[in-house]
Amino acid sequence: MVSPAIALAFLPLLLTLLIRYRFYFVLFYRAVLLRVWRDCRTGLSREERCFQYVLTNATPGDPESILDGFDSWCTKKEFISHIGPKKGKILDRLLSEHSPLTVLELGAHCGYSTVRIARALPLGARLFSVEMDQKNAAIAEKVIRLAGFDEALVELIVCPSDEVIPRLRADFDLEKLDFVFMDHWKKCYLPDLQMLEGSGLLGKGSMILADNVLFPGAPNFLRYIRRCGLYEWRVHRATLEYSKGIRDGMAELVYQGTK
Ligand code: MG
Repeated sequence: MVSPAIALAFLPLLLTLLIRYRFYFVLFYRAVLLRVWRDCRTGLSREERCFQYVLTNATPGDPESILDGFDSWCTKKEFISHIGPKKGKILDRLLSEHSPLTVLELGAHCGYSTVRIARALPLGARLFSVEMDQKNAAIAEKVIRLAGFDEALVELIVCPSDEVIPRLRADFDLEKLDFVFMDHWKKCYLPDLQMLEGSGLLGKGSMILADNVLFPGAPNFLRYIRRCGLYEWRVHRATLEYSKGIRDGMAELVYQGTK
């Protein structure tokens, strides 16, 4: 049994840790504890609960209201690691500046960023969105179609990214990728980037935007782009989606190849 005197001696340290890391505690509560409790209580996955909320609150055919529904749920209810509205504006701006015609998204999850990208694309553009989790992909498919985007604009590919990338040229008739958005497993960022380089689908000016490079973080990916000399790059600093105090960033890469 710890004596009250010893417990009191540790109180300032405990308080300091609680204050310093409060945003991480809040994130752990919202992303893990609350999720497990509600999974057991509702028998639905977090993504299914989120989709039900969006379905109830959004207007079919209106991408803006669907994004608002996601943002509202992720702010008021539970945490899902969509890109969110703040970092989403950086994505919006880059898309509007570059008007890409061929876009690859790695990690559709529930379709939030897919809708965000699709609504910003010019006429005639195509978005290939990759999601390896079949249940999440089923939700993403409904979200994308609910937003009013057909298969001519958005094609959802249910497969691990390292199996899709080598097949993009042959199976999807792709010559070049103008824009790649990475928001899947952070450990896949570097091997997938190198696979894209090897595929010949990146040309001069191809842009890659990678989310969450500071939190949870992709140190090997950042080390590689710093050293390889193939990209002009920068990190857009921001906070983690739906969180005020956890620092995060998105890496913007522009390929300097010759194609
Ligand atoms: Mg993300």
